[in-house]
Amino acid sequence: MFFHKVTNDDGTQMLIELYEDEIVTYCPKCNKEYQLEPEEIAGFLNSDADFSGTSIYCKGCYKPQLKAVK
Ligand SMILES: [Zn+2]
Repeated sequence: MFFHKVTNDDGTQMLIELYEDEIVTYCPKCNKEYQLEPEEIAGFLNSDADFSGTSIYCKGCYKPQLKAVK
């Protein structure tokens, strides 16, 4: 079981049970709630990205970032 550890304003800590189907993000373009697929979470954890610095677009807004290759 996994927990989200939250520190309250008074310094006490709280553990919130974390379920895989409760991990959501918000699309930076349309602000729609987007539930992450387990593969996406796994891919994210295996990358060097940090949670707070990452924006994930919903399937409707996601456009592959194409880079010019020379
Ligand atoms: Zn979107």
